[in-house]
Amino acid sequence: MLKVQDLKAGYGRVEVLHGLSFHVPKGELVTLIGSNGAGKTTTLRAISGMLRPQSGAILLGDAEIAGLPSHQVARRGLAHSPEGRRIFPSLSVEDNLRLGAFVRLTGVREKGDVEADFDRMYDLFPRLKERREQQAGTLSGGEQQMLAMGRALMSRPEILLLDEPSMGLAPRLVEGVFDTIRRLKEEHVTMLLVEQFAAMALDVADHAYVLENGRIRFQGAAKSLRNDPAVRSAYLGGH
Ligand code: ATP
Repeated sequence: MLKVQDLKAGYGRVEVLHGLSFHVPKGELVTLIGSNGAGKTTTLRAISGMLRPQSGAILLGDAEIAGLPSHQVARRGLAHSPEGRRIFPSLSVEDNLRLGAFVRLTGVREKGDVEADFDRMYDLFPRLKERREQQAGTLSGGEQQMLAMGRALMSRPEILLLDEPSMGLAPRLVEGVFDTIRRLKEEHVTMLLVEQFAAMALDVADHAYVLENGRIRFQGAAKSLRNDPAVRSAYLGGH
């Protein structure tokens, strides 16, 4: 589904990613973990076209997307739910969701029924249904996170990139975010998840890559990394 080969990217003259290679198979959940500043967010930004890679190949299906602007990447079926919940604060919940469907309606892929997508989102996130007329900027942090995920899903993506969906949330809400991720996985949504809660991410993922200073340090089945003593002591705080 998504294949990244020897990706190099950075800011100005500073190279942050020094040649990453990894892939996300269709229907699987792959997680990217690693310490602060390792380059996780930068990786997602380079994939979704928010940041132009310096070199390397990024294949979405058979199409080369490296260097394409983000709206073109989105039209090819990649949705990115960025860190910090970028929603439109002055629009209603429902209008935010509708904007998520927009890339699909103007794109080259199947169009389908937006109303059915609303039903699906409100089924996944009942809180959003209760608040569908409310201005998005007045939602709580957890609700805004749900909305950011819901908006990304409204495009019916081939693959969903999730950047720290649990960021800034109270523990109970973090559980809720992971429940949603589990549910999407049961529906075979292909996902690439960046998470600070590495142990939880490894519990839910199929495969994992551990990033350190812009390089992949470990990779493997999420379950085996979860039990790997080196990974546990360095990245899981012994958990
Ligand atoms: P965190 O878990 O703290 O979010 P991360 O693994 O997502 O970390 P990145 O945000 O990708 O890390 O940052 C990787 C490196 O790139 C860091 O050293 C960071 O300071 C640098 N960096 C990130 N954004 C920019 C920017 N806009 N300009 C310059 N340097 C940047």
